[in-house]
Amino acid sequence: MEDPQETLEPRLNVRALYDRFDAPVTEIDCGTMCAPHNSSGKPFCCDICHSVPAAFHQEWAYLQVNTDLWHAWRGDECLSEPVDPGTLLEETPEHMLLLACQGPALCQRSYRALSCRQFPFFPYITRQGRFIGLAYNWDFEALCWVISNLGKVTGAFRQEFVQVYDALLARWPAEFDSYAACSEEMRQAFARARRRIPLLHRNGRDYLLSPASERLQRSAPEKFRRFGPYR
Ligand code: SF4
Ligand code: SF4
Repeated sequence: MEDPQETLEPRLNVRALYDRFDAPVTEIDCGTMCAPHNSSGKPFCCDICHSVPAAFHQEWAYLQVNTDLWHAWRGDECLSEPVDPGTLLEETPEHMLLLACQGPALCQRSYRALSCRQFPFFPYITRQGRFIGLAYNWDFEALCWVISNLGKVTGAFRQEFVQVYDALLARWPAEFDSYAACSEEMRQAFARARRRIPLLHRNGRDYLLSPASERLQRSAPEKFRRFGPYR
């Protein structure tokens, strides 16, 4: 008989999950491309003033006993721009919590959270409930170099991303719902802006997706828009 607890929250082998999702997003170290544009000198996704990583509670249980890299986010880590903890906590799904690390100078690559490994992407879920590929976190368009260079995302990264999320989304309804909601939010934001969504499809090709009809049009990644200092 199916274990109801397993259906709600699958038991994760966090080490195995990390080992399966270890390919760098691009061949070059993309942190060296964005950090010069950040006044702190840190890559944007590793700067707590720009991005607060979220992790599964099971990841936190694993990380706490294996590394001193992380602590539970307090909200006072960013000295230059205090954030409103209420808003961030409200946006955090119940099956996750917010963390802060010791910063990029002390990063331990093998103990990066899943959210570090997937950045800047999330699994795009259609209105019909299909995970069809990778979309990016659009709040980072003007900050993240990768978003302006989608053609440089490696095949290995795409493949690992799809395999890991195929497994997670199939077993974890809360995780599926959270990304379905994020995909809907992206459709609404891009519809308002009259833009199509760049999509790195699970079939290995690249498309622009209409936020209204979800029709896909094949596109060369070099034709995708570039943003901010990466234009
Ligand atoms: S993923 Fe984006 S924000 Fe993070 S280091 Fe690479 S270019 Fe910078
Ligand atoms: S653990 Fe490493 S990759 Fe993740 S946010 Fe911290 S410095 Fe960046």
